[in-house]
Amino acid sequence: MDNKEATRTCSQCNKEVAEANFALHETHCRRFLCVCPDCDEAVPREQLDKHREEQHTQVRCSKCNQKMERRHLMDHESDECVERPQTCQFCELVLPWKELDEHCLVCGSRTELCRDCNRYVKLRDQPEHGLTCSASNNGSSPPQTTSTPSNKTKVTVTCKGCTALIAAEDIEKHELECVPAIRWDYYKEAKPEEEESKNGDDFYGQVITRLSSTYKASTLSGNGPWGDGGDPDKISTCPHCHLALPSLTLRWHQVKCQVYIVLK
Ligand SMILES: [Zn+2]
Ligand SMILES: [Zn+2]
Ligand SMILES: [Zn+2]
Ligand SMILES: [Zn+2]
Ligand SMILES: [Zn+2]
Ligand SMILES: [Zn+2]
Ligand SMILES: [Zn+2]
Repeated sequence: MDNKEATRTCSQCNKEVAEANFALHETHCRRFLCVCPDCDEAVPREQLDKHREEQHTQVRCSKCNQKMERRHLMDHESDECVERPQTCQFCELVLPWKELDEHCLVCGSRTELCRDCNRYVKLRDQPEHGLTCSASNNGSSPPQTTSTPSNKTKVTVTCKGCTALIAAEDIEKHELECVPAIRWDYYKEAKPEEEESKNGDDFYGQVITRLSSTYKASTLSGNGPWGDGGDPDKISTCPHCHLALPSLTLRWHQVKCQVYIVLK
């Protein structure tokens, strides 16, 4: 027959039923099933009261007190309730959903030191910062804006001319002022005690001899830059250029500084 595959919709349960079985099905449906007036679902006739009680009774959410059918309560509690517990992505504190936005606005504005570029980065900017961190792309990223002042550690470099530790930002200026013609090696060879007797045959030697004599004359008390007293590891400041140097280094440095002044 050509209508073997034909189906009809049961008005009782809204299901598609094979035409051949329809009469039997409908009888069965009428006897055993009915359509719930609240949700249009076919439910066993003897379970309708139980179904309506379990699914459609109005209940209140215990957290936000909102009224709803019982069948919606679980979805409400997990996905919709404004009081549902949520975890802050920045501090992992659990707090009600309705307070999360305000909390995260503050919490995500806290900064943390990026160990790669030594800058303070807002917690909420960290995923993006990880992609643009200047330490990983050679400084071509735009400068990061942070709400707290950046107190990065001062970077110092050693001046090749005078071996003093100079702030990296000042080294270019310093090297212009530093005497490039006089090498540190020269002073290591020219010991102060030898200079007195040395028959100065070059200009710098003469200057040093003269200067060291001047120092000895003016610091007879013995606690001056050329005196024997004092801790050699002590950090002192050069009176001429105000560089902070260990006392031992400072002795040599001051000679050069004097030379520089004389040459001016
Ligand atoms: Zn049916
Ligand atoms: Zn129902
Ligand atoms: Zn709720
Ligand atoms: Zn937080
Ligand atoms: Zn970084
Ligand atoms: Zn220098
Ligand atoms: Zn100096």
